[in-house]
Amino acid sequence: MNKTELIEQIFTCQRCGYCCHGETTVSLTPEDLQRMVDYLQLEVDEVKEKYLRITGNVIQMKTVDGHCIFYNEGCTAHPGRPRLCRQWPLHPSIIADYANFTAITESCPGLKTDMGYEKFCEILALLQDE
Ligand code: SF4
Ligand code: SF4
Repeated sequence: MNKTELIEQIFTCQRCGYCCHGETTVSLTPEDLQRMVDYLQLEVDEVKEKYLRITGNVIQMKTVDGHCIFYNEGCTAHPGRPRLCRQWPLHPSIIADYANFTAITESCPGLKTDMGYEKFCEILALLQDE
């Protein structure tokens, strides 16, 4: 089974936008910042000023009307989005702790949980190995 088929076993995005809403966003690593700059094709200072909220060492995206500045019925920065956005909702912490599975499945209606926690983790673990 290839990666796409594995993902489809446990997740199909419902495009509800829930993961892009809230008054804060995921944090960007230096690599995320560079990817964003490359994607937007702007100077780094301009990207920081227009799109980012920087508090000490923490870099996040700005929010507008309760959602990420890049959200507009979908991600408008999809190729440049941060690693944590790429990873969501198939986060490896799900395997580490059932409580994370519960919390993340409550936040994302795209996860397929009928197979149960054990089977879900088996498939997710295969994806982590890729
Ligand atoms: S919360 Fe889940 S289903 Fe909804 S848009 Fe985000 S990833 Fe897709
Ligand atoms: S960068 Fe895209 S995927 Fe990430 S929170 Fe913003 S709109 Fe959502």
